[in-house]
Amino acid sequence: MMESRVLSVDGWQKVVHFIDESAGLNALIAVHDATLGPGCGGCRIYPYADFESGLRDVKNLSRGMTFKNALGGIPFGGGKAVIFADPKTDKTPEMLRAFGAAVESLEGLYYTAEDSGVTEDDLKIIRSVTNYAAGFAHNGIGGNPSPFTARGVWRGVQAAARHHYGAASLEGLRVSILGIGAVGMELARLIHEEGGKLTVADVNQAAVKEAQDRFGAEIVDKDDAVAADVDIFAPCALGGAVNSETIGRLQAKIVAGAANNQLASPELGAMLAERGVLYCPDYVINAAGVISVGLEILGTWTKQEMTTRIDKIGDTLTEIFKRAEAENRPTGAVADEMALEIIEQGKKAA
Ligand code: NAD
Repeated sequence: MMESRVLSVDGWQKVVHFIDESAGLNALIAVHDATLGPGCGGCRIYPYADFESGLRDVKNLSRGMTFKNALGGIPFGGGKAVIFADPKTDKTPEMLRAFGAAVESLEGLYYTAEDSGVTEDDLKIIRSVTNYAAGFAHNGIGGNPSPFTARGVWRGVQAAARHHYGAASLEGLRVSILGIGAVGMELARLIHEEGGKLTVADVNQAAVKEAQDRFGAEIVDKDDAVAADVDIFAPCALGGAVNSETIGRLQAKIVAGAANNQLASPELGAMLAERGVLYCPDYVINAAGVISVGLEILGTWTKQEMTTRIDKIGDTLTEIFKRAEAENRPTGAVADEMALEIIEQGKKAA
């Protein structure tokens, strides 16, 4: 038996707490802003220490999706869900079906997708009880977002190199990739094929060895990737790669990678700008995954449309760089402002 309670949260369109004890579900769904369309964003399963931590996370994540979807150019607002559970031990088909029922009860105000703790197979179970779930391969579309994300980051790296170094291509430029996983490895391939040079670091020695063998990458220790003598630093592992300690060691004049929350705190954006470092706001450069989900929901997903949309990430970043330069402001602040402008336009058009 599902119980639901709407929480009154200032600044959020709707936040609902769902509990289904018999199914083991304790979840929050937050829709931050639905001006541009239904809230869209993944579901995270995580053993939060307490209710407040989960609420904080779902609020931050859903707000982030509002900005990401707006600048990604898809007609969706910001939404996100969290399930209070350990995905390794607590996840059951009953729990996932109950979550699907919770999503369904919002009647299309929120579309769910993958986030940490949720796999493509889990989504199929969720999808069996709701139409408001996306992000898995079917009929040859969608599926694993990593190659799309890598392409978007590559376009972002190119746009930044063009803007900052006046470089027509990445040929001869050196990129340090921290985290040579699903996105990092594909990004390395794209840069290598364009004639770029690579420095790589990862805790996974097999991954760096593979990058060395395939792309002639130079290997450095994970703590030295940020300080490598390179043109571009691409954080593609965990968040916080740029922090109060590493910022002083950064050699690259461009930071452009796939990781979420690359800056450990927002004021680092201004510090990077002061040092003449061009930062590609993370939620803009790594948006291809959600763009794919958006096109899947809209039913307009084709390889051609996807490629066109991803390549626009480079154009959006160029616009951000130009405005940041003209107004002498950090790129992150400009990106946020541009997202808010798009939402304001959406309000006027409604
Ligand atoms: P992944 O898990 O495949 O790769 C991450 C890599 O980082 C792994 O090889 C791992 O060994 C390495 N790593 C972990 N901790 C490290 C450390 N302390 N030092 C050095 N290396 C470390 O993940 P992914 O899908 O490639 O995603 C990479 C980043 O991009 C993540 O932050 C993710 O949230 C973000 N992102 C990914 C996508 C996507 O489509 N996959 C979309 C948006 C954002």
